[in-house]
Amino acid sequence: MNAYYRSAEKLGVQIRYNTPVQALELRNGEFVAALAGNERIEARACVLAAGGFESNREWLREAWGENARGEWPADNFLIRGTRFNQGVLLKFMIEAGADVIGDPSQSHCVAIDARAPLYDGGICTRVDCVSLGVVVNRDAERFYDEGEDFWPKRYAIWGRLVAHQPGQIGYSIIDSKAIGHFMPPVFPGAQANTLGELACQLGLDPERFTHTVERYNQACQPGQFDHTTLDNCATQGLTPPKTHWARPVDMPPLLRLRPAPRDHLYLSGAESE
Ligand SMILES: Cc1cc2nc3c(=O)[nH]c(=O)nc-3n(C[C@H](O)[C@H](O)[C@H](O)COP(=O)(O)OP(=O)(O)OC[C@H]3O[C@@H](n4cnc5c(N)ncnc54)[C@H](O)[C@@H]3O)c2cc1C
Repeated sequence: MNAYYRSAEKLGVQIRYNTPVQALELRNGEFVAALAGNERIEARACVLAAGGFESNREWLREAWGENARGEWPADNFLIRGTRFNQGVLLKFMIEAGADVIGDPSQSHCVAIDARAPLYDGGICTRVDCVSLGVVVNRDAERFYDEGEDFWPKRYAIWGRLVAHQPGQIGYSIIDSKAIGHFMPPVFPGAQANTLGELACQLGLDPERFTHTVERYNQACQPGQFDHTTLDNCATQGLTPPKTHWARPVDMPPLLRLRPAPRDHLYLSGAESE
């Protein structure tokens, strides 16, 4: 970013810091000026690069609505990026008649640690051990194939998956075999020597949790574990299945992490990480 700023300044671009644009002046659908505080900045053209509306809770609520459990999932989202993307100029342009594309509830939505701050948690809040263990919801049930594909191809769907779970919370459960295979998160996970003990720490029903993990463990077929390939370690006879990297979660200490659906949202776009 500093290199961008330096290059822009060399080209004569003036930069106003801490200067939100609240509206634009348009004439016959054409840009005339940007209005920022008391300033009116005229130009021949304007490029709007003011982000999405991921920090605007009301707009997120409107886009996500109420679910069948009477919850408003967006109330539990954390924004790992800037708090300033309120969508002020997006809304302005939509009201001025700009075309809207895409579905506003769709997003790049990452599972991050639920203990992360509301804004600006950054990359280190992402929970990256999902493909190495199992993920259960508040009812201690698994809900998706944790080993569907390589993690870099799947991490951006897990926020949305967790958003559809009760309370918008999930628990990523791994054992000591997983350590060293993923980017450790900034918050340490809870540890326990038995499944029941871990469930108690997480506030999950110990019987149901133990049953879910033991059923998963029993369904794991012998294979050659290799986290760098789509290996042949899979479950059999389990719904949902785990199709790669399925190894029993049985080697203490067991660990848990809490992903939550949180991230920037935009009307359309694609990215790779
Ligand atoms: C933690 C994290 C990690 C990410 N990692 C990757 C990655 O590895 N690869 C990848 O491709 N993408 C990644 N992304 C996504 C990527 O950063 C965004 O998609 C991208 O920055 C969006 O660019 P943008 O220019 O549209 O908006 P932004 O970069 O969000 O910029 C919008 C700017 O506009 C300002 N602004 C907002 N409203 C106003 C207003 N009214 N007036 C004036 N200024 C305003 C904001 O302060 C902000 O500076 C990541 C995002 C986060 C949060």
